[in-house]
Amino acid sequence: MVNGSGCMSTLLIVDDQPANIALLSEMLHGLAEIYFVDDSTKAFNRALELQPDIILLDIEMPVMSGFEVCKLLKNDPVTTSISVIFISAHTEAEFEFNSLAYGAVDFIGRPLNRAICRLRVQNHLLLQQQAKALQQSRKHIAAEKQRLQVTLNCIGDAVIATDTDAIITFMNPIAESMTGWQQSHALGKSITEVMLLRDVESKQPSTNPIILALREQRIVAMALDCELVNRNTLLAAAVEDSAAPIFDVDGIMLGAIIVFHDVGEAKALATKMSFLANHDQLTGLPNRILLHDRLEQACRMAMMIDRKVGLILLDIDQFKYLNDSLGHQLGDELLQLLVKRLQSILEPEHTLARIGGDEFVLIFPDISQVEQISNLAQSISRISRQPFEVNGKKYNMSLSMGISLYPSDAGGAETLLRHADVALFKAKQEGRNRFCFFSDEMGQRMLQRHQREQSLREAIAADRIEVHLQPKISLADGVIIGAEALVRIRNKNGSLISPVDFIPLAEETGIIIPLGKIVLVKACQQNARWQKAGIKLPVSVNIAAAQFTDPSLLGLIEHLLQEHQLTPAMLELEVTETALISNPGQTAKTLSQFRAQGISIAIDDFGTGYSSLAYLKQFKVDVLKIDMSFVKDMLTDKNDYAIVKTIVLLGQSMQIALVAEGVETAEHEAALLELGCCYGQGYYYSKPLPANDFMQYLVAGKLPA
Ligand code: C2E
Ligand code: CA
Ligand code: CA
Repeated sequence: MVNGSGCMSTLLIVDDQPANIALLSEMLHGLAEIYFVDDSTKAFNRALELQPDIILLDIEMPVMSGFEVCKLLKNDPVTTSISVIFISAHTEAEFEFNSLAYGAVDFIGRPLNRAICRLRVQNHLLLQQQAKALQQSRKHIAAEKQRLQVTLNCIGDAVIATDTDAIITFMNPIAESMTGWQQSHALGKSITEVMLLRDVESKQPSTNPIILALREQRIVAMALDCELVNRNTLLAAAVEDSAAPIFDVDGIMLGAIIVFHDVGEAKALATKMSFLANHDQLTGLPNRILLHDRLEQACRMAMMIDRKVGLILLDIDQFKYLNDSLGHQLGDELLQLLVKRLQSILEPEHTLARIGGDEFVLIFPDISQVEQISNLAQSISRISRQPFEVNGKKYNMSLSMGISLYPSDAGGAETLLRHADVALFKAKQEGRNRFCFFSDEMGQRMLQRHQREQSLREAIAADRIEVHLQPKISLADGVIIGAEALVRIRNKNGSLISPVDFIPLAEETGIIIPLGKIVLVKACQQNARWQKAGIKLPVSVNIAAAQFTDPSLLGLIEHLLQEHQLTPAMLELEVTETALISNPGQTAKTLSQFRAQGISIAIDDFGTGYSSLAYLKQFKVDVLKIDMSFVKDMLTDKNDYAIVKTIVLLGQSMQIALVAEGVETAEHEAALLELGCCYGQGYYYSKPLPANDFMQYLVAGKLPA
């Protein structure tokens, strides 16, 4: 028979009678390896040495009885588990009882029955084998358990085990520190009490995956965006985990295990890594990779909403020279200063990226007018030309820029960049410190615009602004009831430039604010002049939308009236409907402020904008000026006639005075009179006249009594 460790079982016969030994050996032949000893005093040592599975022990032996030997065997840990079977001629029950009381497993009486003896020994050998196997696997399990314990204690993940009711049966040190619970306190408690999970966003408790794993008997991963609140610190850590049920060999669920770890740090690291991968180290700006991404996104967006994307490729002029002569550290500092300065004028939707040592790219998404990008390029030029200061020393830098536009210059991000590069090359060739457009036509347009803006500023600076005056006439009797101030620029060569050619540009560039002030000043000066000549006549001044929302306008007007000793009735402001509607709340307030002062308000070009009754009620005005486009054709076009008629009715019903613009003929005058329009303005009476000519016109004309 083979024992638990794979060897042949061993059997030791202890008997003082060699004949008995021979008989037993013969009977048990083949069951085990058989050893014997005939001296009972040597039996114990032999057993120690052999460690047999079974000892067949004769009870009646000289010097040392079988009972005594058994006692020795049972008292020694090495031999205690050896099965002892007593053999004796005494078969009384008491004897047998004593034998078993000594720790023997069996008792065989003499004379020996071969079959019974063999069977008994065989059974005990089997039992012994099983006991050994059991002991072996116990050792195995103990070792396994030990190894598991060590593993669980030193892995970086937190582990918690529960029974089928989600009651904690084990937790490792990481789980202890993450939950803030000691294992000794947590044992016997529910997982939901120990593991406080909640949603990162809503802070609402989340179901513990172990509950689901137990309920559904499957592996469950934790919902994303889960955080674990530490019982002691009350701090929450983002965690990631999964729970799994545990089954025994028969498939019966024993409990579940949850393994989790802190992903907060991992997330922070991942974020940092991705930032590093997408940004330039020196300036923190997006790098080429992120630039591409943003550019493509901007193009896609622009295509969807039918807008343009502008791309400016910037290059610092002679930066290599600066860098080489002053040292790279200083070069780096200059780059950082430049970036800061650029960022100070950029809007959040712009992307500034660094794509090379001294090369930057700026994405201007969502462009509706090309002027927006040339204005930005101009601002960049201006601010980069101011000296940069490092360690108390001043350094000068200038930039060359190439501009390309999506979709007019290129169909995609890649070509857009290449074309900006072509434009940059042009800018450098033309002498650096400037910007060029990829498209020649665009470049030309922007150049002209730039020149016009320049000359407008020059005209203001050189005081070449004039105000011409056009009378307003009472249609019924030809009396001059007022005059409109209309701006002109006197060219260097003496010719006049029409406001149609520069007012839109002035409005786009904000030059309208200083220009509008000049017109107001000159209009008031003229009025004061008339007054000195004894003529009291109100002057109307056109006010652009930007001026109207300028909070300093009212103050300026008050000051001018005072300076020239004019009553507020001597001034009227002409505002377009569009200007009024652009900021209704503010407009209503401003209008009432002016009217409270006694300054009257006229709506210019009435009929071309919203012309709604509702807003006429909301904005109280004094005069409606019927747009000249309706007046011009009112005699030939029924629609225009109807419009003029309606506006007149509207004015009359709301007690608003009506002035028809563009009265060019006597027929116009007659038709307007017939409709009930009282006042008119137009070439039929006079073109706008220079101040002196207008003075003469007044002196010769019919004035109010
Ligand atoms: P507006 O305010 O509607 O001015 C009337 C324009 O019509 C003037 O042109 C005037 O010369 C012209 N006009 C007058 N009578 C007739 C006529 O019978 N037939 C024709 N065909 N035209 C006539 P102007 O002076 O060239 O001004 C054009 C526009 O420029 C003005 O239109 C006004 O919107 C703007 N503007 C002029 N001066 C100023 C100003 O000081 N500030 C602002 N913001 N805009 C101004
Ligand atoms: Ca006007
Ligand atoms: Ca007008």
